[in-house]
Amino acid sequence: MKLENALKLLREVPDFPRPGVVFRDLTPVLADPDALRAVVDALQDDIHPDTQVVAAIESRGFLLGAPLGYGWRYGVVPLRKPGKLPSVADREPYELEYGTAELELPSEAIRPGQHVVIVDDVLATGGTAEAACTLVERAGAIVTGVSVVLEITALGGRERLAGRNVSALLAV
Ligand code: AMP
Repeated sequence: MKLENALKLLREVPDFPRPGVVFRDLTPVLADPDALRAVVDALQDDIHPDTQVVAAIESRGFLLGAPLGYGWRYGVVPLRKPGKLPSVADREPYELEYGTAELELPSEAIRPGQHVVIVDDVLATGGTAEAACTLVERAGAIVTGVSVVLEITALGGRERLAGRNVSALLAV
């Protein structure tokens, strides 16, 4: 399937999870075997060749990170919400529209000097991806890029990640 047709399956859900937010739902893309393959292949096309590890952001990033890792032989490291990991190497708080959130890096997952790409479904304000970059870099690794399926340009994530290699399959 062509990428543009795969991306047509992205669903917009108004007023979820809060009034005024348009949730960009990847579910129909993932549920279609040809669309899933087109999207994962396209993400891979933009990943820097030095990359060794995919750091996937909970939870929809996991669904993209795992096929990338299997298909192109990257290690896959989950960056998780608090309280999920049995052994935490580091944690980083970040701002949400209301309140704060935190990402945790598992112990013994990323080694200094490794080249790591951050993967998620949607880039909005960039706060989550920025926290992910911080965790990876504080572990002594190198961020080769931030790869997402969809970028919501009005929310300024790309500007927030200025100087980083940000790649999105679709910008709205
Ligand atoms: P941000 O930190 O603002 O860039 O938000 C990105 C994170 O929140 C990603 O993990 C997304 O899965 C999720 N997210 C934020 N806004 C949306 C949206 N409009 N639709 C779907 N997911 C979103």
